[in-house]
Amino acid sequence: MELLTPSSAPRHGRHARVMEEVTQPVTAPASQASSDNCPVVSLRGINKSYGEGALAVPILHDIDLQVEQGEYLAIMGPSGSGKSTLMNIVGCLDVATSGTYLLSGTDVSQLDDEGLSRLRNRTIGFVFQNFNLLPRETAQENVALPMLYGGVPRSERIDRAREALEHVGLGDRVDFLPTQLSGGQKQRVAIARAMVMKPSLLLADEPTGALDTASGEQIMELFQELSDSGATIVMITHERSIADHAHRLVFIRDGRLYTSEEVEGVAE
Ligand code: ADP
Repeated sequence: MELLTPSSAPRHGRHARVMEEVTQPVTAPASQASSDNCPVVSLRGINKSYGEGALAVPILHDIDLQVEQGEYLAIMGPSGSGKSTLMNIVGCLDVATSGTYLLSGTDVSQLDDEGLSRLRNRTIGFVFQNFNLLPRETAQENVALPMLYGGVPRSERIDRAREALEHVGLGDRVDFLPTQLSGGQKQRVAIARAMVMKPSLLLADEPTGALDTASGEQIMELFQELSDSGATIVMITHERSIADHAHRLVFIRDGRLYTSEEVEGVAE
């Protein structure tokens, strides 16, 4: 498992970038980032290629996807279908080659790196397969991290982190280190951390991928509770039994999105 600390961790990859960013200033609460009633995610004609010119390899093709506030969507596809590429674009960790992406009404193509990172911090809570908790920090400190440089006073950070942990059923584990927690508990800490700034979007990449079936089911129950309380969730998975927990399911095959009816005729 890749574990990152602020000072010693290797800085590469999209997850490391997100971990760096949770320690950057957060200038506005997420609620201010989303315009009233606009979709949280609006992708129009998104294409993504790697490489340039004659060497360009097209990966995503003409993706249209809208996620409304309060939706719980799963994007399901086999390995190599383009899930991570799409997640990177939705999570503003990468930009499309062409097409339009509005995140809570903001056109991400108009933003530079700093603007993208600020929008991402305000708007998206990430949950990863491997939890990405800081190993030397307690559960409470991990959850408090996104608030650290956000101008949130220390006592409030501590209170809000504790509340977030109570919310995910870990009120009796606030002082535990990640090594003292089970996989399912670690993922619940990660979910508390993702939600503590009240993001407009919870973006989860294979959130049960490192868990046994029973722990995975508990995480799915927690997602259901978050959804019931109004959270907007996009979950990426290759497992049908996990995808079925979402309220809407779209499929990705060879970089194209399909509804369940459409995917029937598409070869695996
Ligand atoms: P998934 O997450 O569904 O396994 P990916 O989005 O990681 O799929 O990859 C989709 C396709 O894009 C794969 O064929 C992969 O080899 C290719 N790909 C991913 N990243 C790069 C890259 N940086 N350069 C070139 N091709 C890439």
